[in-house]
Amino acid sequence: MGKPKLKTKRLTVNLEDYVIDAAKQKAETMFRGNLDNYINWLICSNNKQVIKKKIKELDQEAEKKKPKAIQDTDKTAMYNNICDYCSEPIYQGDDICKAEGYENYIHKNCCRREE
Ligand SMILES: [Zn+2]
Repeated sequence: MGKPKLKTKRLTVNLEDYVIDAAKQKAETMFRGNLDNYINWLICSNNKQVIKKKIKELDQEAEKKKPKAIQDTDKTAMYNNICDYCSEPIYQGDDICKAEGYENYIHKNCCRREE
């Protein structure tokens, strides 16, 4: 909730058979066979600082795109709903508010933080 939507791209790599076998085996034990998640984890753990910086940049970009909250409209959700900004569920008890350009209440986290 409130996190930037991450884009995925297809990347083709050429690996030796035995390397693929080893990777598949590891993916099986670590990620229930999901090779994408395993490769993603490998690259991220080998590039922690760079990835951290990238995520921070993406967060800042996403923050700028968020709609401005309308003052004094903060409340707690009474019913489950869907947020028009992020399309994720709003659960009863979540912090919500009105935002410029949106008819319905959206997540408070989906509004731009006021500086
Ligand atoms: Zn939202």
